[in-house]
Amino acid sequence: SSARITVPKTNDELSNLVVEFNGMLDRMQHYIDQQSDFVQDVSHELRTPVAILEGHLQLLNRWGKDDPEVLDESLRASLQEITRMKSLIQEMLDLTRADQVDVQFPNAVSDVHQTVNQVTNDFIMIHPDFTFTIDDELTGPTYVRMYRNHLEQVLIILLDNAVKYSTTRKEIHVTASLEMNSVALAVQDFGEGISPQDRKRVFNRFYRVDKARSREKGGNGLGLAIAQQLVESYKGTIQVDSAVGSGSVFRIDLPTISQAQATQLRQMSEV
Ligand code: ADP
Repeated sequence: SSARITVPKTNDELSNLVVEFNGMLDRMQHYIDQQSDFVQDVSHELRTPVAILEGHLQLLNRWGKDDPEVLDESLRASLQEITRMKSLIQEMLDLTRADQVDVQFPNAVSDVHQTVNQVTNDFIMIHPDFTFTIDDELTGPTYVRMYRNHLEQVLIILLDNAVKYSTTRKEIHVTASLEMNSVALAVQDFGEGISPQDRKRVFNRFYRVDKARSREKGGNGLGLAIAQQLVESYKGTIQVDSAVGSGSVFRIDLPTISQAQATQLRQMSEV
């Protein structure tokens, strides 16, 4: 970029320093570019709800005093739009926080076996029209170095999407299995599925395959970006496998720690 300094040819130590310095400038520039992309995306996303609010307030202003129907409808629509903006703001905060997770923090330990079962059972309660199956190969506590609320948040995002993008077959499979040094979690639905081109983009912030449909379901296109950011902060991976018309499987892999390590980390955090 333009801020770089020309490397002097004469002094070795000096040129090493300049190379180092240029590296730092490049990283800073990259960070600044990312921030400005984010601000641009956010402004763009806020434009729609603000325009809708403005429209309804104009209606209210012109006809609201005389027409009780306009009054009711415009107030209802405005409040709904404000609720949406609130959840957008909350999700943007979550995304920023997920970016700042400090994985070195000692008390970050959670039991995958317990968390998966608890979160899925919550969904079973909230969505009685769906059939959930839990295929949990983990026979007992299985620990990952992750805050429990973060693990919950990732599972909730995937289960929420599975519900939102299911069509006629209202079935969701949750699988947990143990690998060599990691645990694999999968959430499968039999809904609309995601095309290969879209599969690459669904983890991008604000990306939605069908903007109008996602909006109708209260989506902001931030869920998967938050999930990916969190999982990767804890050195895990997240991926999707899908076929249009037959459904999707989102799979997370997280490195596990032993019972002894978990106990030790927990004790450290209690001091
Ligand atoms: P949203 O709030 O729109 O659901 P996400 O970041 O969670 O945002 O997902 C981004 C997009 O990926 C969604 O708008 C949808 O198009 C697609 N998507 C996510 N999960 C699924 C799924 N289980 N089945 C089909 N499409 C999905």
